[in-house]
Order: sequence, then structure tokens, then C-alpha cells
Amino acid sequence: MGFSTSLQGQASHEALLGRQDAEIKLLETMKRCLTTKVKSDREYASTISSLSIQGKKVERYDDLAGSLITQSWKDIMDSIDQTARLIKQQADSMESLVVEHIGNLYTERRKARKLYQEEQTWLSNQFQQLTDDVARKKTEYQKNLEAYKLTRARFEEHYVNRGRGGRKLDDVREKYQKACRKLHLTHNEYVLLLGAVAECEHDLRSCYLPSLLRRQQTIHEEFIVAWKRILQNTVKYSDFTSEKFQEIHARVQAAVDSIKPLEEYKDFIGKHRTRPASPLRFTFDENLVDDTSGKLLPNKLTVDNLTIDWLRSRLNELENSLKSTLQNRQATQSSNENTCDPRMTMLDYSREREELRLRCQEKKLQRQVEVIRGALNELGCEELPSGCDLSMEGSFAEPPPVIKGPCGINNSNNDQKSNGGLMEEEWFHGVLPREEVVRLLVVEGDFLVRETMRNDECQIVLSVCWDGHKHFIVQITPEGHYRFEGPTFPTIPELIKHQWQSGLPVTSRSGAILKTPIPRERWELNNDDVILIEKIGRGNFGDVYKAQLRSCKTEVAVKTCKVTLPDEQKRKFLQEGRILKQYDHPNIVKLIGICVQKQPIMIVMELVPGGSLLTYLRKNASTITTGEQLGMCRDAAAGMSYLESKFCIHRDLAARNCLVGYDSNVKISDFGMSREEEEYIVSDGMKQIPIKWTAPEALNFGKYTSLCDVWSYGVLVWEIFSKGGNPYSGMSNSQAREKIDAGYRLPSPDGTPEEVYRLMLRCWEYEPEKRPHFDQIYTIVETFCLAFNPPNIV
Ligand code: ADP
Repeated sequence: MGFSTSLQGQASHEALLGRQDAEIKLLETMKRCLTTKVKSDREYASTISSLSIQGKKVERYDDLAGSLITQSWKDIMDSIDQTARLIKQQADSMESLVVEHIGNLYTERRKARKLYQEEQTWLSNQFQQLTDDVARKKTEYQKNLEAYKLTRARFEEHYVNRGRGGRKLDDVREKYQKACRKLHLTHNEYVLLLGAVAECEHDLRSCYLPSLLRRQQTIHEEFIVAWKRILQNTVKYSDFTSEKFQEIHARVQAAVDSIKPLEEYKDFIGKHRTRPASPLRFTFDENLVDDTSGKLLPNKLTVDNLTIDWLRSRLNELENSLKSTLQNRQATQSSNENTCDPRMTMLDYSREREELRLRCQEKKLQRQVEVIRGALNELGCEELPSGCDLSMEGSFAEPPPVIKGPCGINNSNNDQKSNGGLMEEEWFHGVLPREEVVRLLVVEGDFLVRETMRNDECQIVLSVCWDGHKHFIVQITPEGHYRFEGPTFPTIPELIKHQWQSGLPVTSRSGAILKTPIPRERWELNNDDVILIEKIGRGNFGDVYKAQLRSCKTEVAVKTCKVTLPDEQKRKFLQEGRILKQYDHPNIVKLIGICVQKQPIMIVMELVPGGSLLTYLRKNASTITTGEQLGMCRDAAAGMSYLESKFCIHRDLAARNCLVGYDSNVKISDFGMSREEEEYIVSDGMKQIPIKWTAPEALNFGKYTSLCDVWSYGVLVWEIFSKGGNPYSGMSNSQAREKIDAGYRLPSPDGTPEEVYRLMLRCWEYEPEKRPHFDQIYTIVETFCLAFNPPNIV
């Protein structure tokens, strides 16, 4: 079955023409589409090629050295570039090997169709020609037949009717013979024509037409071969999965596969390696608490009457926050556990981060809770220290107040009874400040009892040296009995004795055991031993009274400390007593004792009847003699020489701080600023420093030695000879400082012996080492005195 046998009919012929038209149309469409494809492939190639160039321009490439991700990215960009080139090559091939060939095929296809159509036309013309020939011959045949029939009829008619004969008959006969011959000729021609036409028709139909159709089939099939080749090329040049592409893909795939998270930052880490982060240290700046004299300790919570309520409510707040933080953290943890995917997704990561943050928050809260709980537990039944004794209202002022026992413990018979004679106990130290108490408790187990005020309430406190110092408040039961953690007792002495003799710890937590009761020092007088008489002066801490000792009626001077002052100030106040109690010298004011059994605390000292030297000089300026002045200088030098030998630096030597006794005898007083050290460096600023009396090295570097006192002594001598004058009068403190640094010195007061002024100048040597020591000064002044006050006159 083929064209030659199956497509002989007219309909087939027309269908074949139609088919060829359709194929030509298809070729047109293919050409148009593939041209567009070539164009768009080229554009695509060009676009991705330029993007790959941009992609390869990696910014801050140096910072990414060694990064496999970066390398892979560059490989991907290279592969895109290579792909672009391949696509372009393919587009070029598509154009030259496909689009152009389609064009050729199209032209040939049209030519072939035309040829086919021409041949078909010729063939059908041939058939038509044959038909026309036969028809023409047949018509001629029929016409001749008619003519024959007519002439025969005429002849027969003439022949039958011979009578007529003659010429007419011959004529008719001739015509008849002619027509007969023409008919017979025509008949023969017709026969011959029919034979020939049949032969021709047979040949055209059975030979020519099949041959034409066969050729057509060959041509069609050849076209199909060419067309197929074109389509194969189309497929070939449209194939982006070919080996070449696969090679590029494989290369880039290998590059990406080579990315290993562990390797990625290897070079980076090597290049930027640093030491592990050292912890930020948050240390307590101990300078902050310098001025608080131990009330505030570095890194230790202060639990006192000022902070206790805040601490409790803060603890409560923190515990609540801690609870909710813990709950949140547990919730986050359990949702983390529910995550099935073992890989760390971003969600997991943010959960983990949230958990870590909560953990940090929890630790912060936990720590604060622990610290506060620890501080509160540590307190136990221990005394709540007073942050600032403002609760002790009312200052001690004129007229001399009736001194009351703050707790009522020791000022009524009933109380005395109920406390079983606490006052009489050697180890009861009254209101001795906590800081003083601490100083007395040295060995583990040393203990004493004292009283303190809190919120207008008297508390009895047992202080023990145990792992530092512990202070326990004696608890009072509703029945009015006393206890710590153990059994109750009707009186405090019984409680303390039980605690001491049983050897049991005061509280199980502290483990503090009482071993050695520390008795009152001989200096610790009973407040009731002193009767205040009249106010004779006003000091920094309170008023100064003339008083009498109840026992021996000796007149004494009593310095009082205002009850409103904070404990710290009371401690400073007592410091003068602590220093003075060690000294015994005619030119140093003598300490008789301190009264700390109740408020106000007092320092009892010898009464120096002339009062302050400054007032004395001013009052007696007109009558005072040089001999007297020299005697004062000698006394002061004797007192200071004694202090120097005891390594005591006074730091505030001035006429206002010296007292005048009988016979103008001068005594050094006011040891409030004194220090028992060879050298003392001030670190807490230079507040309340008597600038005009202080040596430059102390002002400039805070360095105090006895040679600084020597400088002050020079000023004291100047005050004595100026009869109470104001040094550097008309200059401010800072002006005086500047001038002294520049070399200026106080001028010699009128009437000052030259040698004395020379001594002053030696005391004011800028370099402390060049100044004389007090023993030298004493010797020098003693010599002057002897010169001015011969022994027989004195
Ligand atoms: P403070 O050291 O508190 O400043 P002072 O020692 O300067 O107190 O004393 C204040 C005043 O009290 C002195 O100027 C003096 O008049 C008087 N005074 C102090 N102590 C005595 C004493 N022992 N004998 C006589 N009067 C004294």
C-alpha cells in the first residue's frame, strides 16, 4: 500500500495537495517559533551571563577567605556563565542547523508541490484530450452515419424507381458510395482511435500515474527524513540536560557538596583566633564604703533597721519572679522536647535561646534570693543593727538633763529586780557602741552583754566573738521571760549564765558558744557616778560640762555626745577616750573614764580650769608676758614630745585645742582627729581639715607624721605670741595654701623674740625632714624659758 496504488483518485490527489499545504504551513510555524526560541535563548544566555559576572563580584572577599560557601557560590556563578555560553552555542546551532534548514525545506516543499500539481494537471489534460478525441471522432462518426443513411435512402429510392434512371441515379449512387466510404473510413478511424486511446489511457493510468505517485511518495519520504533530522537537531539544541550541561552541573554539585559546616569557619577561626573571653569582673569598689566605718561592707547586704522591711518585700518580689521564671522555663523546655526533628530549626533555636535567657534571668533572681535569704537567716535572733540611730530622739542640752536609762532596765527598783541585777554584772557594758564592743571581743568565745535602742524600744544584746562577731537579741516571751533558742529564764543574768555554763550554742545556726565573759574596763564608769554641774563649752559632738564625781566629789570635765548622732559618730567620739586612756603626762589632758551605761555617752576627764588656750590668750592679751608665752610653748612642746614618743599624731594641734590650767600650764586636748601611727595616709578626702594649721605634705598628699604636728606647733607658737591672733588673716584657706607652697611664711608677731621666730620658721620648713623633732624643740624652748624666766623668778 502506497501512494501509487492508494492515491490514484481525484479526491486523493486533492487531499495530497491539501496535506502538502498543511505541511508547508507547519514548516512556516516551526520556523517562526524556533526563530523566536533562538532569540529568547540568546537573551536569556546574555542575562544570566551578566548576572553571573555580578554574582562573582563578592564584596569584602578578604573577610570570607577560606569559606567553602563563598567558593561554592563562585562555582555556581561560573557554572551559570558556562551554561550561558552553552545555551548561546546551542542557539547558534539551532539557527544555522535548524532554522535555516527549515527555511530550505520549506522552499523545496513548495517547489515539489508545484511540480506535483503541474504533472497532475498534464496527466488530467492527457485524459481529457483522449476523451475529447474519441468524442470528436464519435460525433464525426454519427454525422457520417447520418449522411450515409441519407444518401443510401436516396439511392435506394432512385434505384427502386429505375424508371427514373439516368444521370440522377448515378449521381445518387456516387453520393451514396462517397458517404458509404466516408462512414467506413470514419468507422475505421473511430475503431483505431478507440484502440489507441484505450492503449494510451491504460498506459497513463497504469504506468504514468503510478510512477508519478511513487515519485511523489519518495519525495514526501525524503522530506520527512530531512524534516526528522531537523527535528532531531531541534531536540538536540534544545536539550539542557545534555552531557555538557550535566558536566557543569556535576562540577557545581561537587563544589556545593564539599561544603561542610565544620570546615566553613576553619580558616576564619585560624585567622581571627583570640583567647577565650575573659569574664567581666564586677567588683565592689571598696572606696565607696570607706566613709561608712564598717557600717556598709563590700559585697555584703546591710541588714539593719533601715533596710529590713525593704529586704523582706524585695525577697517576696524576687521569689515571685523566680517562680514565674521557673514556670516559663519549664514550659519552654517541654516544648523543646516535643520537637521531633533532630535538626536545629530556627524555631528550636529561638526556643533554646529563650530558655537560655530565662535561665540567666533565673540565675540572677536565684542569686538575689539566696543572698537576701542568707543575710536574713544570718540575722536569726541576732540584733538588728541600727543604720542610723534617729529613733533616739532628743538631744542633750542645757540645763543638764536628768539622765534616764533608755530601757528602764536600770533605773527602777522593779526593773532592777526583774533583770536580776544585770547592771551589776561585770560583763554588762551598758550602751557601749557596737563598734567598741567588737574591739573588746578578741578571742573566740569572748562575750559581753549590752543594750541598744531600736524604734524606741530597748533591746538587750549578747555580743560574742565567734566566726567574726555575732550579736543576739535577748527574746522576751509573752510571760516576760528571756530566752534565745533554748529554755526561758526569768532574768537576763540567769539566761546568760545558763548559756555560758551549758556550753550550748546560742543558736544552732551560729554555733556561737560563750566561753569568756569580758568585764567592763576600768574606764567604763556608771553614768550615775557623774553629776553634771554646768556647761563650760561646746564641742563637735555635744556640750562640755563641769561635773563632779559622785564618789570622791572631784571636779571633772565631761564631754557629752548627742544621742541623736549616728553610731558611727559615737564611735568617733569615743575614739578620743580610747586614745587618751593610754596617756599620762602633765601636759596632756587626763582621761578619767567613759560613761556608756546609758545615753548620752560621755567622756570624763580632768577639769582644766582655764578653758581653751585661744580664749585665754585673747582674754589676757594685755597682761600676758613673754615668759608666760614661752612657758606655754614649752608645755605644749613637752606634751607633743610625749605624744611623738608614743607614735601619736595629733593632726589638730592649735591654740583652740589646748587647755590652760593653773599657772598658765598648757595641756594638749581634743584628740578627736588623732591617730596612733608613725605615718598616717588620709584616703577619705580632706574634709574638716584645719588648713591654716596643716603642713603642706599633709594637704597635698594626705601624708601625716609627727613632723606635720611640728608645722602646727609653729602656728601654735605664732598664736601664742600674737596673743590669739588669726593666722593668715585676710586670706582664704586656698590662698594661704598657695602662698605657703610659693614660699610665704607668717610674719613674726610683734614682740616675738627673734630666736622664737627662727624656731617658728624651722617648724615651717617645706621639707618635713628639715623640721626639728619635738624633743629638740622642747630642749630649745626650755633654753629660751630659762633665759627669760630664771629659776629664782619662776
Ligand atoms: P571637741 O573635741 O568636741 O570639739 P573640745 O575638746 O574642743 O571639744 O572642747 C570644747 C570646749 O570645751 C573647749 O574649748 C573648752 O572650753 C571646753 N573643755 C573641753 N575640755 C575641757 C577640760 N578638760 N577642761 C575644761 N574645759 C574643757
